[in-house]
Amino acid sequence: MKITRDFIHRMPKTDLHVHLDGSMRLSTILELAEKEGIALPGNPQSEDELARAINIGAICEDLTDYLKAFDVTLSVMQTEESLYRAAFELGEDAARENVKYMEVRYSPLLHTRNGLSYPVIVEAVAEGLREAKRRYGLMSGQIICGIRHMTPESSLRMAELCVAFKNRGVVGFDLAGAEADNPAKDYREAFYLIRNNNVNLTIHAGEAYGPESVHQAIHMGGAHRIGHGTRLREDGDLLNFVNDLRIPLEVCLTSNVQTRAAKSFESHPLPFYMSYGLRCTINTDNRLITDTTMTDEYWRAVQHYDLNIGDLRKLMIDGFKSAFMPYRKKRTVTAQACAEFDALVRDFETTSGEKAITDPRVAQEIAFQKASADARTPTIYPIQPEDQRAEAPDTDAPSETDTEQPTPAE
Ligand SMILES: [Zn+2]
Repeated sequence: MKITRDFIHRMPKTDLHVHLDGSMRLSTILELAEKEGIALPGNPQSEDELARAINIGAICEDLTDYLKAFDVTLSVMQTEESLYRAAFELGEDAARENVKYMEVRYSPLLHTRNGLSYPVIVEAVAEGLREAKRRYGLMSGQIICGIRHMTPESSLRMAELCVAFKNRGVVGFDLAGAEADNPAKDYREAFYLIRNNNVNLTIHAGEAYGPESVHQAIHMGGAHRIGHGTRLREDGDLLNFVNDLRIPLEVCLTSNVQTRAAKSFESHPLPFYMSYGLRCTINTDNRLITDTTMTDEYWRAVQHYDLNIGDLRKLMIDGFKSAFMPYRKKRTVTAQACAEFDALVRDFETTSGEKAITDPRVAQEIAFQKASADARTPTIYPIQPEDQRAEAPDTDAPSETDTEQPTPAE
């Protein structure tokens, strides 16, 4: 069975790394700017003109250059109404391509120009996401970001906010912004507050800086997930550590090519990571600025790395497994996603008349798990007649070896 874009569009998905301020609709930016009398660069009159003015989807010089487009979106995200709308519409766009669970990140630090307080900002976003849940059933949570190129004190304020809103719409903390020259170790106080309050932590690292940044994120920050991790491959020892501890990577393919974190899709480490068994998740990063969707991201992965159904299923499961969601709920949600995925495969098999290849071609973990399951020798107790059964060993009782006293040395 050939994987089509339609299959990817319809399969259940997660998006664990998506920035609210990088994912607005062009039409909404134009409408809000007009309503609020905000001048946009180049005075664009149409969506196309606005798209050109902010270079959406264009290859940038570097991450800092990429971050410039956010000045435009942030200019129209300074009211409760605009924040509510941005959050709701992002939820709506995600739900329309069958994203089941999404974690939306942003920094309230960047939305106070008109005097909004931090709690009001968080509530406005939460309400937008609640509306997306009511209308489309989309499950979601917020991740509050500290910003690397702002002071560590400001990130500490964000960490406090995150703790205050834990279990009230906020599911985690992140450190975003310009990675070079702003090492994670400078934000230790914020990370400590987060961890000390049992809050989930993800940190952007290994995107615009080398593996040292991932090392700091894990060992000085205590990150539970890594945003990007593109340059992790440069340090094999750390790569093994990340793999052994099953620390998920939030991979954002198109964004990485756009910011030059990877030279091209072909040279991106995703297929290597998958083949090595790392827990990789697929994400959009910025729907608007990267000009992408979850369907686009999976579709590009399929086209560039020749993924099969087994690989897609593995990536999907890793997305659900890595969610900052209570474990017991996550188990149910992941099982539901698998059932929906498998039913969709059967549907496509019937329509196309071809069987899907369900053993992953690129990803290794499922194949490995299957192999180890097959290798296990099952314990079979032979059925015995009633009278002999009483003599069968009682497995709960301590065995002779358990009670045996060590022989004293001569
Ligand atoms: Zn990001």
